[in-house]
Amino acid sequence: MRKLPVTELQSGVYLLDEFSGTNCYLVVGSEKALLIDCGTGVGDLTGTIRDITPLPVEVIITHGHCDHFGGAFDFPQAYIHKDDLRFVNRIQFTQFARRVFTRGNSGLRENGFTVKDLRKRRYRTRLVPIEDGFTLSLGDKTIRVKHTPGHSHGSIAVIDDADKVVFTGDNCGDALWLFLPGRTSVEEWLPSAEWLYEQSETYRVFWGHRVPELTHDYIGQVLTWGKEILASRKKNALFPKTEQHPKRPDGIVYKTNTIFKRSKHR
Ligand SMILES: [Zn+2]
Repeated sequence: MRKLPVTELQSGVYLLDEFSGTNCYLVVGSEKALLIDCGTGVGDLTGTIRDITPLPVEVIITHGHCDHFGGAFDFPQAYIHKDDLRFVNRIQFTQFARRVFTRGNSGLRENGFTVKDLRKRRYRTRLVPIEDGFTLSLGDKTIRVKHTPGHSHGSIAVIDDADKVVFTGDNCGDALWLFLPGRTSVEEWLPSAEWLYEQSETYRVFWGHRVPELTHDYIGQVLTWGKEILASRKKNALFPKTEQHPKRPDGIVYKTNTIFKRSKHR
């Protein structure tokens, strides 16, 4: 089983790149380490972590998608926002979603991974539901959680104040996906993006795929695109279409029936 390539982003903060599929991160404190996302589960994640630190490891999942949760079977416990808990329990524990992701992900494919490489351990992971404001001590570092709905209802940002780093999961990036089941409207995503934009003035921001770091200017651009989507229409479409704005590979992908907040959105 292959270990994941590791990059030290800054002292005590590591990128664990699941073979160009998903970016996982490790923050090492004085008493514990924190793993942020577990990838799809094709590589030796625990072996990779053990090469970095012997400390006990806590696990937090930025949102309930299989490419962030898939490798959780190696850990007894993981924190996840309560709004994504039901979502994970319903679909993500099945192998199906992981297979779909592995087939569709160009990074994993280019690194020679197929569905046969998906590790098939049973999930005995205890999922601990968390909310906005949750904190976790790693000894000399305290990690905070902010609820940032958008990409999913239970998406969170994981904030490491000591290192001035924010892990935003998939809630902003090059080709933000606001079209999957469990998403919010673009309107409900906007405050999360505005918060991230402000944070990125003083904090480094890392996300879940491809080039890991998002600059302040780039986050501002994605925010502007979101505002343009809202300004382009008066109401949600009755018959949804999936569109991309702007029409370029990194534009926001959204559904025309979830632009504006609905009173009943699930
Ligand atoms: Zn996702």
